[in-house]
Amino acid sequence: MHTITYIRRGVQILSLTFLFYGATLLHLKPTEIKWYAMQENSRQATELLYGNPTWTQPFQTFLPARSCRFAGTHGTFRGCLMFFFSDILTWRPPLGVVLPSLALVVVLMVMLARFWCGWICPLGFMSELLYEARKYLGLKRIRFSAPLRNLLKAVGWGLTFIILFSAWFISWSAVAWSIKKPLYLAVCQMCPSKLITPALTGFPIMINLTFPGASTTLLVSLFVVLVASTLLYFSGFILKRAWCKICPLGVILSFFNQGAFLSKEKDLIRCTKCAVCASACPMETSTVYEEKTKKYVNHSQCIHCYRCVDLCPEKKCLTVKFLGLPLFKS
Ligand code: SF4
Ligand code: SF4
Repeated sequence: MHTITYIRRGVQILSLTFLFYGATLLHLKPTEIKWYAMQENSRQATELLYGNPTWTQPFQTFLPARSCRFAGTHGTFRGCLMFFFSDILTWRPPLGVVLPSLALVVVLMVMLARFWCGWICPLGFMSELLYEARKYLGLKRIRFSAPLRNLLKAVGWGLTFIILFSAWFISWSAVAWSIKKPLYLAVCQMCPSKLITPALTGFPIMINLTFPGASTTLLVSLFVVLVASTLLYFSGFILKRAWCKICPLGVILSFFNQGAFLSKEKDLIRCTKCAVCASACPMETSTVYEEKTKKYVNHSQCIHCYRCVDLCPEKKCLTVKFLGLPLFKS
């Protein structure tokens, strides 16, 4: 491992510990760090969505840090960004109420973009560990072909659209309850974290195919997607960062990658076209290698892991900058 990778591993370990076990370690209850709660609004919305006036679970959104809601009471925060966006689309809170959290989310997205994926996301970190384990198991790496990468990209876009559209769709009172119930937080129903995170945080696994009155076809379809996405995640043994290539959160963050405060620059004179960066990239993007005219080598799929910078054999050929200030150099 090289310097940046060592630093990154340290940050990843701290992030996983904090996001999965922070509440337990710091003796916090998740409710103590909520940013806002809309109890009354929530009660009405719950009745609208579920038609069940006795269900009084308050609608609360916590500091929108990106931990899986299935981390249960062990997690420091509640809900990932997709959860946050879905909740806003479903419950349609007044803008004044949601604005502080939304503003913070947008600022973080603009500043860091997919830095989250490479340095903080516990799922991304664990998929890298899976891939490391491959070496000890003697499994051969399989690289994605360009058409397969494009297909996965399209799947990611499709999933993101379905998740956001269904979150908005179920907010309408005219939609039948049997459809609303399974589609509520469709993102969680299809995300591999729903199975992996509870297993790691001691929270009961929540696969529920028995919602009374819910559409069986929808429930089974979502379960099939959940199984497929979990299999894709564990294919990370041989396919580097397999799930990250379709992750809906990654899709949304990729919009901000080009303009993120973090950027990579390439010294076109120093580059010897050795292609080490292309083979090192876990997202299998070859922008750094292929760019021949522009010094900025950012890419929408880049997760800011900086393996390309770490492994580039040419001194000062690649530089990572934060707001124009150099952070790392090859
Ligand atoms: S690893 Fe460095 S020198 Fe080699 S192709 Fe990439 S940028 Fe150029
Ligand atoms: S382009 Fe470089 S920083 Fe981006 S994902 Fe690939 S190796 Fe990591």
